[in-house]
Amino acid sequence: MVSDVQSGSRRLLGRLKLALEEPAEGQERLDRITRLIAAEIGTPVCSIYLFRDSDTLELCATEGLKPESVHQTRMRLGEGLVGRVALSAKPINTGNAPAEPGFRYMPETGEEIYSAFLGVPIQRLGERMGVLVVQSKDRTAYSEDDVYAIEVVAMVLAEMAELGAFVGEGAAMAAPHKHPVMLRGNCGQDGAAEGNVLLHEPRVVVTNPFSDDAEAELSRLRTAVDQLRVSVDEMLMGVEGGDKDQREVLEAYRMFANSKGWLRRMEADINRGLSAEAAVEKEQTAARSRMEQVPDPYLRERLHDLDDLSNRLLRLLTGQGTDTGAEMPQDPVLVARNIGPGELLAYGRALRGIVLEEGSVGSHAAVIARALAIPLVINAERITTEALNGDHILVDGDQGIVHLRPEETVASAFRDKMAMATKAQERYASIRRVPATTVYGPTIRLDMNAGLMADLPSLRSSGAEGVGLFRTELQFLVRTKFPRRSELAALYSRVLDAANGKRVVFRTLDIGSDKVLPYMKPQDEPNPALGWRAIRVGLDKPGVLRMQLQALIRAARGRPLTIMFPFVAQADEFHTAKKYLLGELERERRFGHPLPRTLEIGAMLETPSLAFASKQFFESADFISVGGNDLKQFFFAADRENERVRRRYDTLNVSFLTFLEWIVMRCKETRTPLSFCGEDAGRPVEALCFAAMGFRTLSMRPASIGPVKHLLRRSNLAELREVIDEARASGQQSVRPAVMDWLHQQG
Ligand code: PEP
Ligand code: MG
Repeated sequence: MVSDVQSGSRRLLGRLKLALEEPAEGQERLDRITRLIAAEIGTPVCSIYLFRDSDTLELCATEGLKPESVHQTRMRLGEGLVGRVALSAKPINTGNAPAEPGFRYMPETGEEIYSAFLGVPIQRLGERMGVLVVQSKDRTAYSEDDVYAIEVVAMVLAEMAELGAFVGEGAAMAAPHKHPVMLRGNCGQDGAAEGNVLLHEPRVVVTNPFSDDAEAELSRLRTAVDQLRVSVDEMLMGVEGGDKDQREVLEAYRMFANSKGWLRRMEADINRGLSAEAAVEKEQTAARSRMEQVPDPYLRERLHDLDDLSNRLLRLLTGQGTDTGAEMPQDPVLVARNIGPGELLAYGRALRGIVLEEGSVGSHAAVIARALAIPLVINAERITTEALNGDHILVDGDQGIVHLRPEETVASAFRDKMAMATKAQERYASIRRVPATTVYGPTIRLDMNAGLMADLPSLRSSGAEGVGLFRTELQFLVRTKFPRRSELAALYSRVLDAANGKRVVFRTLDIGSDKVLPYMKPQDEPNPALGWRAIRVGLDKPGVLRMQLQALIRAARGRPLTIMFPFVAQADEFHTAKKYLLGELERERRFGHPLPRTLEIGAMLETPSLAFASKQFFESADFISVGGNDLKQFFFAADRENERVRRRYDTLNVSFLTFLEWIVMRCKETRTPLSFCGEDAGRPVEALCFAAMGFRTLSMRPASIGPVKHLLRRSNLAELREVIDEARASGQQSVRPAVMDWLHQQG
């Protein structure tokens, strides 16, 4: 049975539909809508405020307030009741507006005679667009039915605004997705890129928010929900016994898909005149605004699941797939909420840049972007709602900034910056073949870090002397199941072929912590970075370690082989791993397989404890490589993935440099070759200081080799060492200011 409320609401939407269908300018449409709502609700005032920029709302149309205040009255986000509605994304309904906290009346509007106020946000999928307000002289708040009706109208207005129905003069009525936007995120991988947006998951466009036939819309919704339930059940069957996280997400999907409340709310919206798609989107919008306000990460994840599920349902209803047939634009910059490593690799090097709404520096996507040297900005809030396929975009990975649809002046300044970087690269190319010999001092060996076959061509183009760190886990991360030994042996063999006699340091599998294999049972650990990871996993589950060691030995076949064990915290871990390696070598020998010509076995020093291991340990290692990323996080007790703290402590902090000096001294004592392979080795000033502290081998991203070599070749390490020692002696916390002064004096 259709209630009065439902039929009233449907009549309002029906009239709204007619008003919107008539051809008119945007302003005329807004004026008509305010008139219509005021008449239908039976209230003297109805006003529409729209954002003119991310911080300012503007009165764009009104029935009942003074007409001369239109486009004149403005308020900031959070200011007055209208600003509060926009900020909190929640309605305010009161019979006594002046008594509300934050109330501020705008004298030019003549609103002082109206006591009752109802404001609801005009928003769409987390994007704030404006506020719809009704006011009256009564001293009572609006009824629940009025609130509901106004909310539904606001939802329709948001849909129509998205489709460009209210375009007119001035910033507040600018066409959507046309104006320049700058978004600030975090740096995931440095570098700059200019290109065009390629949406990983194009948005579903709801073209008709109204329904003429509620029964037909209800049946469309129910059919789609049934299909959704079946598909979720099928997905769940597909991961039976598999990955726990994936199962948990799907269980949450199933719970939502079967939620009676969710379906009931959508059915009620349809009964009040919305189309099935609009009803789904209304729920989705509500979930998104809740998502922004939920501090608990677990609950937020669940709301994300509901968001994903709504997207699936919308795709079922509209028939719009993820593949919209949109062509890959020229110079594509991938824009996504988040993306898995396999999907990212599938796009490969064609991408000029990547912008993610979420993500973390240690996420798999970031690891892959880094390996592919593609500029990446993470945590770019709102990018997926703002960007459209094909939009012009600038990605500044160094600053973590994105310019969407930039003004020409911004684009040209950006191009200048890129041109300078290219010029610098050309300068570096000219020193590609010369050694990194410092002024009157030693030559520093510069190696590169790699992890994918695709990295190997950089060995020639960068001028690296070898691969100082080959992160073997990337091959495991991008697969859906454990690779076989023969596959790995073939891959490692190709790596050695491509290195063409240059030294490659293979680091055995470093998984756990941030690097969780999709096909391995995830461990629920309170502190994964301090947990079951790297060599700890290898030693507790030696099957995988031994398989990898066999593959490496087989790949070498008469060639030199260099293997490094990650995250060694005490000597016996290294000795046991080494025993496995020698055992496998012996086994291969017995089988009559060709053995490596030479074998070097090293350890990564990533925990402070290893720096204080016995002299015998240092003697037993063929080489030591400092994994500065991990070592620094443990030294300062500052999580390398936590944006709040990861940049808090300077690498050139006196304590850390003195600790590195200690490691240099330990290795000197036993003549153990030492290198540094964390990200800091690729930062020229840091690299220079490491060299001054006694490091003679540095391993870094290929793109860093030129800048590091350029600076090393111009510098006198003995002089710099004096500067560092003076700064240390004078009680400085970091030697950076003194080093920078010295560098400036050098010109
Ligand atoms: C390090 O910790 O410095 C390192 C090189 O290893 P990863 O970054 O892969 O942990
Ligand atoms: Mg590490």
